[in-house]
Amino acid sequence: MSSLVQVAGVWWNVPEGYRPQQARPCKSCGQVILMAQTPKDKWAPLNPDGTSHFSNCPQAAQFRRPKPSPAPEATASRDSD
Ligand SMILES: [Zn+2]
Repeated sequence: MSSLVQVAGVWWNVPEGYRPQQARPCKSCGQVILMAQTPKDKWAPLNPDGTSHFSNCPQAAQFRRPKPSPAPEATASRDSD
């Protein structure tokens, strides 16, 4: 189940158990997302349709903070697109 809540003038489909906090533009792609706390007290960015913004953000990789790694590959493979 989910419920519709209005935050910052936008209606959001919020999954059950999630507690919406604030809407703001994604720092990576600029889309307005709703920051909500999950039932496990973790933060989740949601799209208006209730799906995780992780699933469609073109910069989703930036959200995931990999464990600090000494691997030099992180900066070594910068091929031009
Ligand atoms: Zn984004």
